[in-house]
Amino acid sequence: MDAHLSNDHALLKSLSVLYVEDNPDIRGQLTQFLQRRVGTLLVAENGQEGLDAFHQHQPDIVITDILMPVMDGLKMAEAIKAVSEDTPIIVTTAFNEQDYFIRAIDIGVDKYVLKPVDTHQLQKAVLKSAQTLQQRRELQSRNAFINYILDVNPNFVAILDHNRELEYINQTFLAFLGFASLEAMKESGSSVDGFITQVDGSPFVSEARAAWSMPILAHPEVEHVIYLRNPKTGGTRAFVVNCIQFAELNKYIFSFADVTHMEWEKAALEQQATTDSLTGIYNREKFDDSLNLEIDRAKRYGSPLSLIMFDIDYFKQVNDTHGHQVGDLVLVNLAQLIAKNIREHDIFARWGGEEFMILAPNIPLESAQQMASKLRALVEDTVFPVVGRLTISLGVTPFREDDTPRSLTKRVDDALYRAKRGGRNRVETE
Ligand code: GH3
Ligand code: MG
Ligand code: MG
Repeated sequence: MDAHLSNDHALLKSLSVLYVEDNPDIRGQLTQFLQRRVGTLLVAENGQEGLDAFHQHQPDIVITDILMPVMDGLKMAEAIKAVSEDTPIIVTTAFNEQDYFIRAIDIGVDKYVLKPVDTHQLQKAVLKSAQTLQQRRELQSRNAFINYILDVNPNFVAILDHNRELEYINQTFLAFLGFASLEAMKESGSSVDGFITQVDGSPFVSEARAAWSMPILAHPEVEHVIYLRNPKTGGTRAFVVNCIQFAELNKYIFSFADVTHMEWEKAALEQQATTDSLTGIYNREKFDDSLNLEIDRAKRYGSPLSLIMFDIDYFKQVNDTHGHQVGDLVLVNLAQLIAKNIREHDIFARWGGEEFMILAPNIPLESAQQMASKLRALVEDTVFPVVGRLTISLGVTPFREDDTPRSLTKRVDDALYRAKRGGRNRVETE
């Protein structure tokens, strides 16, 4: 026996077959033939018996005569197809039963073997049906396997078709969004778009179906970051999203990897790099960056820009009298007081020691002078914990056309120096 035949043999031996025939002679003959070849053979004498046997044993394949008492073979076939569409049904039929062909086709009968039955032909028909069944089962288990792999994936997976219609979404993603299935999600009128708050750093507006996928499809070679709202916590999570295109299938597979942790760390590091650790306001590095930026902007647009610098009067005495720790506390309290009394757009930074800068974009000199006077009075009128009264001296200067960061800071420092020399607790302009 060659390998091919032995494969066929094994395939037949793995089958359970239901055989339905009312004629005792034919039934006896074919039963004997089939019994030797298939794994399990169920035999019934009419359609009703056959249907009962089918429900009870779920055979792989059904072979049936057409004309039978109680229930004919086609009625039975119809009832079987209604509950088990994939079950192959082979009909044995005589020439005089041709009228039944049309009905048989409608019902979805798979194969016909003419009566009197040539056993070789019947075996071929059973084998063919078994092979189709086997292929279908293999495909089903392969699909189930792929779905399983996608569903256990900790990453979110979404598949879009060529119209950017959502075709598949894995369990991990569904669970995050709070849906049991893709169908349930679509029925509720929801889409992934509704949960997206940001794409590549810009607020997300869903202008078209799956609009979030457009920048990714346009530039699959760069890293894309998408923010999703977590409907359970109301919080936001960050994802790096990659896309693989399956051109032959007209499908796009998107994988969302949760990088919220890294985004937080990035934000924390950025915060650290720009913040003065004692007072919590901007540090000198951030001030220098902002100064460069704002000078560029003022030059490009001709918009006003003002700079205020201030220094605590006789701060050494605070340290000498109350100790360095109380001095630190004063710096913190003062920074908080000033921060609360300037505009959101003003860049407030600790320049060093007990010297502070306020960079005020779009503010002309007169307004900056008013602001400085207001702050001076505010500090003078404040009672600080432990130390009580304090004063500050302030210098003010406007941006001028040819200014560099250095010339601008030099001038405001000069103004502050004049305020000190002029008796402190005052505002001077250069
Ligand atoms: P004035 O500015 O009015 O001329 O007098 P001043 O006493 O404030 O003089 P100066 O600017 O020379 O001294 C600043 C003092 O600030 C010196 C230093 O001990 C203190 N200082 C600088 N940085 C800190 C700090 O981070 N914490 C504390 N506690 N003290 C600081
Ligand atoms: Mg001082
Ligand atoms: Mg000083």
